[in-house]
Amino acid sequence: MENQPFCEFCDIFQNKKNLIIFKNDIVFAIEDIDLASSQRHILVCPIKHIENSNNLTNKDLQLLDEIHKVCELILQKSHPGKEYKYGFHIPPHVSIDHLHYHGIVLPIRDQFFGLVKFGRLLYPMSHIKEIISQQNAKKQE
Ligand SMILES: [Zn+2]
Ligand SMILES: [Zn+2]
Repeated sequence: MENQPFCEFCDIFQNKKNLIIFKNDIVFAIEDIDLASSQRHILVCPIKHIENSNNLTNKDLQLLDEIHKVCELILQKSHPGKEYKYGFHIPPHVSIDHLHYHGIVLPIRDQFFGLVKFGRLLYPMSHIKEIISQQNAKKQE
């Protein structure tokens, strides 16, 4: 821990428990502070500090499934019957260096967020899993 730089999300998990809207043994969820762009926007993070999607391996596939499941459950509960958008930002377009999965209730109102930040640059779970399997294949060469 000593060499680890300050992490906003680890700090929330450890010290700002009032911000946590859900947690279990491996993941926790918070509201994204950007409330302007949609009716609801949440973030689901692994409790373990994983910097970004480049640090994921085959061992994390179960964790990724859990992240998606929790995100979906929270949004379906508060906004049933809506459409949702899910995804990760991947380096270098990452704002906080602790892996987090965005869950957004559609529509996204803000044009900028809609098209740039949460359109093109938000990668679905399937894309991240593909990257992991490619990296794994390379290691075995
Ligand atoms: Zn962290
Ligand atoms: Zn992000």
